[in-house]
Amino acid sequence: MKTKTQSHEWSVIEEGFHPARQKACESLFSLGNGHMGQRANFEEKYSGESLQGSYIAGVYYPDKTRVGWWKNGYPEYFAKVLNSANWIGIDVGVNGASLDLATCEVREFRRVLNMKEGTLSRSFVAAMPAGGTVRVEALRFLSMASPSVGVVRYAVTALDDVRLKLAPAIDGDVRNEDSNYDEHFWNVLETDSRSGEGFLLAQTRKLDFRVGFAMRLDFEGERVPNPQWLHTPEGTANVYELNLHRGKTVTLTKFVAVATSQDHPKESLKAQALAAAAAAQKAGFDALLAAHKAKWAEIWSHSDIVIEGDVEAQQGIRFNIFHLNQTYTGDDERLNIGPKGFTGEKYGGSTYWDTEAICIPFFVSTAPSRVTRNLLIYRYKHLEMAIENARKLGFTGGAALYPMVTMNGEECHNEWEITFEEVHRNGAIAFAIYNYLRHTQDESYLAAYGLEVLIGIARFWAQRATFSPEKGRYVILGVTGPNEYENNVNNNWYTNTIACWCLDFAREALVTVERNWPQRHAEIVAKTRFDKLGEPALWAKISAGMYFPFDETLGICLQQDGWLDKEPLLARDIAPTERPINQHWSWDRILRSPFIKQADTLMGLYLFDERYDAEFIKRHFDYYEARTVHESSLSPCIHAVLATRLGDIDKAYELYLRTSRLDLDDYNSEVGEGLHITSMAGSWMAIVEGFGGKRMRDGKLFLNPLIHANWRKYAFRLLVRDHPVTVTVTKDTVAILYKGPVPITINIYGVDHKVEPGKLLTVERFEHREQATANRSLAGGG
Ligand code: BGC
Repeated sequence: MKTKTQSHEWSVIEEGFHPARQKACESLFSLGNGHMGQRANFEEKYSGESLQGSYIAGVYYPDKTRVGWWKNGYPEYFAKVLNSANWIGIDVGVNGASLDLATCEVREFRRVLNMKEGTLSRSFVAAMPAGGTVRVEALRFLSMASPSVGVVRYAVTALDDVRLKLAPAIDGDVRNEDSNYDEHFWNVLETDSRSGEGFLLAQTRKLDFRVGFAMRLDFEGERVPNPQWLHTPEGTANVYELNLHRGKTVTLTKFVAVATSQDHPKESLKAQALAAAAAAQKAGFDALLAAHKAKWAEIWSHSDIVIEGDVEAQQGIRFNIFHLNQTYTGDDERLNIGPKGFTGEKYGGSTYWDTEAICIPFFVSTAPSRVTRNLLIYRYKHLEMAIENARKLGFTGGAALYPMVTMNGEECHNEWEITFEEVHRNGAIAFAIYNYLRHTQDESYLAAYGLEVLIGIARFWAQRATFSPEKGRYVILGVTGPNEYENNVNNNWYTNTIACWCLDFAREALVTVERNWPQRHAEIVAKTRFDKLGEPALWAKISAGMYFPFDETLGICLQQDGWLDKEPLLARDIAPTERPINQHWSWDRILRSPFIKQADTLMGLYLFDERYDAEFIKRHFDYYEARTVHESSLSPCIHAVLATRLGDIDKAYELYLRTSRLDLDDYNSEVGEGLHITSMAGSWMAIVEGFGGKRMRDGKLFLNPLIHANWRKYAFRLLVRDHPVTVTVTKDTVAILYKGPVPITINIYGVDHKVEPGKLLTVERFEHREQATANRSLAGGG
């Protein structure tokens, strides 16, 4: 293992200073609060290798696209999450030299990410090359209770008599590493400072987002003389200088508030930010920290997973749940979840199908239903742009193709085989609506928003499918499925499956809305110029007449037409030195090979698992998993869930660990670029949907728990229609504790149980789900 962090139930701990791991640890120890995020960059200057990253949710830059060969329909730009002003910075000087851990002797370095309370702390002793030794204890948090506030407490103790300089600053001279043309993305419009206070107003060079940053400063311990305050065109700082005698400590607290033009009028940003920083200072460090911790306690109360007997597995899942909640809090429908969240620049901070395919299963079960509703409304608000996007590609009549990658609804991805062909993403967006409904039964969502989206998506599929006279069936040609190691294929089984499902689901949704909200139905029909007779009839015909590639001899659905022409090789035949293949092989070789990047056919089996029996799933799992290289972080989790369905607990466990510790153990040697935030929801899926066997149908919870030999016990928390349920699984029992207003029915191992609020229900655990099923049929149970 490349890990240098220690396993611990609630924390990530780094002992000793490892400059070669600094970028990786900056990612691992990142903090966020849904509105802003901060890599674990040091407060003091650092000249070693580092990726500076301070991000404000929703503030992005349309960087002009760089592309070799232009295709009609390509976007003009790629949206980028911006590295914004550095607000954590404190320039520290000891005896006239800059405290820089890359140049001094570092002793006793320790960094701790406290996931229970949402804080990052760091302590070290630094001996300066020209003499002078200090101990530093730093702690920071990005308030979950007041999302515009970040706080840094920085305590310096002199281990020799030293002349100390502390210069807390806000620095607007920042860049993005991934800028296509090496451009600066920000203008600093204003800097201001006075004693104990500073302000900086920055503006993005395109789109005119404006962000005001204000700081207020407090000191404890040794008396600190008045500062010199200064502002340059790019930054603001207060400079304090004092003699610090051996054994004495001075503690600086930096209260920072951020105000953006997304939330406030542009002309009020300075007043807003300064007032919020002053209010934070007035509330004080302890009160702010207490409110922040209380928010985290509340989040954990409905999303925690406890695993006893396996600290690596325990740390992995908490690390994942922690980062997901830091990335998205669900109180603003304009925001979404980038594959790297606030931990790096890769993927531009934009929205991918990852949100609907992987993250919504997590949020819809562990967060209040408004959180998922806001994620769905995000796409509703982009419907017009999805229709425009489809129109650019030649679709008509209100057909909608959602973008593969987006910030504001416009497509900003420009690889033709993905932009134009990876159209299955539309299916995930429709499926997320269904997922929300089956969890919440909030059908009013369909009437208010969902139906319009479903109509646009169904119209797209109705045009994208064409009739093959040769096959006498509908086909979908020239697509890329979830497995991006195949391009321009015909009849990708997954795409055809989800397309038909969308066509059917849209028809059902029309019936539901017409029955329950006739007035709204009439409005939608008029707004979308819906042909009430013709369109649903065509959708039904296409869905019933779709072609699906299938091999009778193997008894499996084929990933696409011509799949069996591939060389009969398995993933285990690839030399370890050639993995990952995407870093060792040419694209030509990858495309011809039989190797699968991520769950594709199996993604369909995962989504629609109630349609298939265990034998059918096993045949497909054995066939496809053996050819899968899992080079997308979204892959192992889907396989883990399916493996538990087959009772292959060890395989599921291995895949679970791989997903949940992907970043902690840096499997792909790339964690320095940022964390795999979206796949973290897959770790949760592996435990709750996999080991726990959790399914939701018509608002009813179904459980089928298994337990791995390494685990003494595990427990997960869910919200069922916004009321907490705790499921505890031991080797012998499954126990349910529900806290809600009225009793509910939960199905465990196929048997319905009435669960009373506050009353523990305990049932016997079955070693194998098949055994449970067999016992049930003997007993005549359902
Ligand atoms: C995967 C996509 C995913 C993207 C962002 C790619 O490697 O193949 O399915 O949407 O990463 O996570």
